[in-house]
Amino acid sequence: MMTRRQAIKTTALASAALATLPGALAQTNAPTPAATPSGPFTMPPLPYAYDALEPHIDAETMHVHHDKHHAAYVANLNKAVGQVKWAAEITPVENLLRNNLNAIPESIRTAVRNNGGGHYNHSLFWEMMKPNGGGAPSGDLAKAIDTAFGNFSTFKDTFSKAALGQFGSGWAWLVLDGKALKIEATPNQDTPLSSGKTPLLGLDIWEHAYYLKHQNKRVDYIAAWWNVVNWDFVAERHAKASA
Ligand code: MN
Repeated sequence: MMTRRQAIKTTALASAALATLPGALAQTNAPTPAATPSGPFTMPPLPYAYDALEPHIDAETMHVHHDKHHAAYVANLNKAVGQVKWAAEITPVENLLRNNLNAIPESIRTAVRNNGGGHYNHSLFWEMMKPNGGGAPSGDLAKAIDTAFGNFSTFKDTFSKAALGQFGSGWAWLVLDGKALKIEATPNQDTPLSSGKTPLLGLDIWEHAYYLKHQNKRVDYIAAWWNVVNWDFVAERHAKASA
């Protein structure tokens, strides 16, 4: 038989074990938030295999970039928008980002700007690349680039310089601003959409986009990336935005 002293000790231990149980369960059984975000915003699947952009963009980077980084933006965006009641339609994510960041409740504005931008920018980014991409655009987009920048080679140089020159994390963009094609860089996950422009082509220059393969050599990543640009997708966006 247990003495009273032993019984108290056993009960205390059992209580302590019970008290820690939810935490322990949460650690083992809970889905990784980044892997299974839930809420109004969902992950777009990659439009090609993880290794489809090899050797220019490596499969391991694509796995981490899409499944972890992009998924975390979606999970955190869902978490943020779940904290307030909305009168307006919040999906698609463009609704949150297009010119009306100031309409977002202040308590979640920064979270929406960062994670909504991250979700939108990355959703575009996967489509802006394709296996056997690269080369140069044709048709109306090619003409518009020549008009705006002189020729394709000058455009490419200017865009690459913008990407290389962005200090820290951000994006380089070809945008349509009214009727004019322009190149710009944005910090963090800010998107040209929020300043009233239409992003046509974007390059993610966060280190997570290239560090596994290129380490500190952003210039090599930029050079490799031109080989996977999906010009058909960019031309489609240009035609739609110019119409
Ligand atoms: Mn990224």
